[in-house]
Formats: sequence, C-alpha cells, structure tokens
Amino acid sequence: MVILSFVGAVGLAQMPFGATGNSADFTKAAKTNSILKNTLRWKWGKQQKGWYLYVPLLQKTLATEAGPDSAEFAEKVAGYQRIKGLRRSGVLNQTTLFSIIKHWQSKRIRPIYEAKESALLTAPITNFYDPTRDLELLKVDRTAFDAYKRMIDDADKALNEKNGESGPYLSIISSYRSPAYQASLRKKDPKANRAQLAYRSPHFTGRALDIYVGGEPVTTKDENRAIQVKTQAYLWLVENADKYGFEPYFYEPWHWEYVAP
Ligand SMILES: [Zn+2]
Repeated sequence: MVILSFVGAVGLAQMPFGATGNSADFTKAAKTNSILKNTLRWKWGKQQKGWYLYVPLLQKTLATEAGPDSAEFAEKVAGYQRIKGLRRSGVLNQTTLFSIIKHWQSKRIRPIYEAKESALLTAPITNFYDPTRDLELLKVDRTAFDAYKRMIDDADKALNEKNGESGPYLSIISSYRSPAYQASLRKKDPKANRAQLAYRSPHFTGRALDIYVGGEPVTTKDENRAIQVKTQAYLWLVENADKYGFEPYFYEPWHWEYVAP
C-alpha cells in the first residue's frame, strides 16, 4: 500500500503536457535544442556544457520518449514551460533547465538527518559492488533496503529476460556513511568529488545509495557520465525507480535516494 500511495502522488510526469499546439510549430525550437543540448553554458558547482547527459531524466520528467532534437520533445518542453509560467518557446534554455533541476532537487531527502543506529541494518556483502568492502560500511536504512531489494529483483528479472542472461545488474557501491566516516574521507582525499566531501551528506540518513550503473563507479567527468547514462541499468532505474520510492540526483547517475515514507 505504501508503494501504491507513493505512485499515486501527483508528480509532473502525470501532468498534462499534451495539447500545447501543433508539433510543426516546434521545428525551429527543436533545431535550437539540438545545438543547446551540447553547448548550453550553465553552472552546477563548476561550468557545465550542454544538457545531453540528462536526456533520459528529461524524457522521464516530460513524459516522452521523443529524442531531444525532435519537435515532439520541444513541444513537451513548451508544455512544461506553460505549467511553470515560463515563456512557452519549447527551447530548453538555461531558465527552463534550472526550473527542471529545481523540480528534481525538490524530490530529494530533506532535511538531511543522521540515521539512528536502530534504523540501520547490515546488508549482506553480496549486495555490494566491492566484495572486499569493510564490514563497517554495509549499513543501510531498513526500509530503504527492503525497497532496494524489491527494485533490483525486478530490474534483474526485466533485464535478464530482455538480454537472455542471468545474473545481477545492480549492486551497491556505497550506502550509509556516518558523519565521522565522511570527515575521514575529506581528510584522506581533499580533492575527492563534491558529494564525497559534503558536510551534510544524504548518505548520513542511510537512505541514499550509490548504485553501480556502469563506467567508473563514482566519477563525475562528463565522458564517464556519458557512458553511465546509456547503460541498461541506468535507463531502467530512470524509468522505474520512482515506483519503489527512489529518486535520482541528476548530476550523479549512481546516486539514488529513498524518499518514500
Ligand atoms: Zn551518493
């Protein structure tokens, strides 16, 4: 029932983006999008170039399978802009991108709290990407782990069926991290990525999971993320994770947060 009521919550994906006009009106916007996809300048921590890395998430949010260069995609962008009171151009410009990012960010765990020891369980190491991982680092929030198990069972089933294979597709890179452990990471590697250095990490809650989706496990280099956002594991998560209560951090294809009650 928890899952049903979660899915039933009104999200943008359920909002009516259609009926915003004739697709032909958006041919020009589509052309602009095909350029901005690779060139739009914006800042997220550092200077970013284009939004091509977020196409699967954008398609999910805009409820379309249409490619980012298509008039249909531009029309969906215009539908989003209409709902948000933005200029209805169909062009995925900086204002629209930041509006969508704000929407994505609003679904994440907040406020960040520190997990009570009693809320955590030690997950079997077979669920982890690194079979030699320290036993102290296998803790996960109980409810989140239940949901994760249901999710990966379904993911493995779906992907194995599709590919005629058997075996696991998803595993956990990192789960609960205590404030003390996070501080030790900071000390050990001051040049680690922003999330690893965070003073208020969602990993404190035990409900944030870094899930291996391909490529280098947790590297934000664009070339690496370009590989990750094309893997079957990632695309399956984008399409389905919300049904299990998980929401992504758009910038890190591996980082998923359990946000259901
Ligand atoms: Zn993470």
